[in-house]
Amino acid sequence: MHALRQRQAMNHMLCQVCGRSTFGRSDERHLFLMGERKGRPITDGEKTAVPPVHEACAAESLRDCPHLRHGAVAAWAQYAQPWGIAGIVHDPQSLAPLPAAEGEELTFVAYESDLLRWTIAMRDVVSLHRCTPVDLDKLVAAVPA
Ligand SMILES: [Zn+2]
Repeated sequence: MHALRQRQAMNHMLCQVCGRSTFGRSDERHLFLMGERKGRPITDGEKTAVPPVHEACAAESLRDCPHLRHGAVAAWAQYAQPWGIAGIVHDPQSLAPLPAAEGEELTFVAYESDLLRWTIAMRDVVSLHRCTPVDLDKLVAAVPA
């Protein structure tokens, strides 16, 4: 995902698929869909750089992208709180870029972290709160193709 669009989507809670606002539900929740999680559920305090998504857009993505379906999880979050950034951390002494954790492209750094000034930010990161897991089969079944 494009870095500027990611920040706009995260700051304004825009759908990662269609780019429109995900505000407007009567319960004021936002849906978050994450791929490649091996079924690990989204829990309270979860940090993510993946913007929210509409139910219909999530169902469409799951139908059209078989790779996303494999191990994907979703949850309704009551609110998403700004937490920090994801980026490339540099060694304060050598200024060399430090590798992210195994299997990760970017390192998550909290706003209050001392590492923040040594990080080139690529994504905004929020923490998700009051999460309710979503059954993806039911989600896809509930939205007409
Ligand atoms: Zn959408």
